[in-house]
Amino acid sequence: MKEMILLKNGEIALKGLNRATFEDVLVKNMRRRIEPLGKFTIRKAQSTIFVEPKDETADMDEAFARLRKVFGVAALARACVVEKDLEAIKQMAASYLEDDLLAAKSFKVAAKRSDKKFAYNSPEICQEVGGYLLSRFPHLHVDVHQPQVVVEVEVRDFGAYIHAAQIPGAGGMPVGTSGKAMLLVSGGLDSPVACFMMAKRGLQLDAVHFVSPPYTSERAKRKVIDLLQQLGGYCGTINLLVVPFTELQERIRDNCPEDLFTIIMRRCMMRIAERLAEQRGCSALITGESLAQVASQTLPALVCTDAAANMPVFRPLIGMDKEEIVRIARQIGTFEISIQPFEDCCTVFTPKHPRTRPNLRLVETGEQNLNADELIERAIAGTERLRIDGTGGLFPENTPLR
Ligand code: ATP
Ligand code: MG
Repeated sequence: MKEMILLKNGEIALKGLNRATFEDVLVKNMRRRIEPLGKFTIRKAQSTIFVEPKDETADMDEAFARLRKVFGVAALARACVVEKDLEAIKQMAASYLEDDLLAAKSFKVAAKRSDKKFAYNSPEICQEVGGYLLSRFPHLHVDVHQPQVVVEVEVRDFGAYIHAAQIPGAGGMPVGTSGKAMLLVSGGLDSPVACFMMAKRGLQLDAVHFVSPPYTSERAKRKVIDLLQQLGGYCGTINLLVVPFTELQERIRDNCPEDLFTIIMRRCMMRIAERLAEQRGCSALITGESLAQVASQTLPALVCTDAAANMPVFRPLIGMDKEEIVRIARQIGTFEISIQPFEDCCTVFTPKHPRTRPNLRLVETGEQNLNADELIERAIAGTERLRIDGTGGLFPENTPLR
C-alpha cells in the first residue's frame, strides 16, 4: 500500500495575486523539514499540497510529525493512494481505515471528484462506498451530522486517495513571508513562546542571546541552543548571535544608580540587538515581555526600554497571563527546557529595590557616567555566531543552508 500526506493551506488561500509566492515559500519550508527523511515529491493542486514518498524507505511517521509544525498549513491527513476503480476504492477504504471503523459506532463517507472522467459522481461514490462499509462492519450506522469517523474519498486527475478527517495543522503564515526580525532570547519561559508566536505570523527569526561569564555558565548558553533546536521545527533555520555582556554589566554596576541597573542593562541589550538586527537585515526586535510581570515590565519601564531603540519592538506576550504562556510553552515543548535552573545574565547584579516607575530623564541622567559606546562595539565584535537548522542541527553560522 502506498501512503502520502495531504495538506490544506490556511490563510494563504485568501491571498490574491501573491498566493503562488506564498505557496512556493510554504513548499520550500516543507521540503527543508522533511528532506533528511527520504525522497519526496511535493505537488500543489487547488489549495491542497500532496507530499508523496518516492520509495518505501521514507519515514512517513516522522514526516507527518514534522509537517504538523510547519506554519501555513491549516489541516493535514495521511492518506492512501488507490487505483481509480470503484471496487479497489471500496476495499481499500475498508482495510486502510479498519482500526478506526472497528472502534467507532457511526461514520459517513465524503467524496470529492475533480476527475470528471471518473464514471461515478460524488453522491454515487458515497452511496457505493458507504453501502460496502456497512456490509463489512455491520455494527456501524451512518450519521451524516456527527459521525465518529469520516471516510474521505478523493478522485483527482492524477490519482485517487482515501483518508480519515484531517487534523489541525500549525496554522499561521509560512516562515519568511513576513520578513525578518531579531528575537532577544533568554533561557526563560517567555522569549521562546514569543519566538513561536512571531514565527507563526510568517517572520523569519534570528536570535541574540547575552551571556556574562563567569557569572553565567556554559550550561545557560547550551540551554538557549536546546530551546532554539526545539523551536526549529516551527521556525526553520535560526541564526544565533551570542554576545559577551560581562564588561557592560560590570560597568553598569560600577557607574550607575543601583535602582536603575536592570533598566539600563535592558537598554544596552536593545541597542546591541538593534545594531545586530541592522547588520542582518532584520526590521523589528522581539522580546518575551508581558505587562506588569516584573519591575522592568511596568509601562514606565517599557517606555524607557523602547526609547533605546528606533526599530519597532514586538512583544507578542504583552497581554498574556503567565498561565497562558505556560500552556503554549508546554504545547511547543519548550517548558521542560526552560525550567532547568541555569542563571541568566538578567539575574546578575539585580538591585534589591528596582525602580518600577522610572522616567526617561532620570534614566538618561543615570547613564551619564556609563560611556557604553566603546563597550558596545567590543561586545558586537566579540559576538559568536551559530546556526541552528529546522531539523535540530547546530553549525557555525556561515554553513550553507541545506
Ligand atoms: P524570559 O522568560 O523570556 O526570560 P522574563 O519574564 O524572565 O522573560 P526578563 O528576564 O526580564 O523577563 O527578560 C525580558 C525579556 O528580555 C526576555 O523575554 C527576552 O526577550 C529578553 N532577555 C532577557 N534576558 C536575555 C538574555 N540573556 N539575552 C537576550 N535577551 C534576553
Ligand atoms: Mg528571564
